[in-house]
Amino acid sequence: MWNRKRRKGRRPAQPVRMELCDLCADIFPESEAVRGYVPDSSAAHATNDWYDGLRLITACCDEHFDVVKDDYRHRPFVEEELWAAKVARALTTGPPELSMDQLAGRTGLHEPQIRRAIAWHNERMRQQHRMDP
Ligand SMILES: [Zn+2]
Repeated sequence: MWNRKRRKGRRPAQPVRMELCDLCADIFPESEAVRGYVPDSSAAHATNDWYDGLRLITACCDEHFDVVKDDYRHRPFVEEELWAAKVARALTTGPPELSMDQLAGRTGLHEPQIRRAIAWHNERMRQQHRMDP
């Protein structure tokens, strides 16, 4: 039998995950982050629709967190915008061609909501198009 060399101390130290402040763009270790959710109708969570309509804020300190939170408080919460975000998620994370029934199943929305969401999205696209030279 031979002595197996123990791999003591060979494991690299855990890299510290860094975060970015949403206000000042300062970079700091994840453990120092001040976080919280604010209502935001443009936010559809990538994997958990329980968080739809909530945006996670990350800040370097309480003060900056409050500034960002305050910004979102003044942002109008538009239901159609949130529905459109859910529809967009359904279309980008699965088969892009879905029937209305399939879309309703994937988004948890009713057909009138989906139609309003699409109308809202199209109107916004038209507005953006008009603004572009
Ligand atoms: Zn900051």
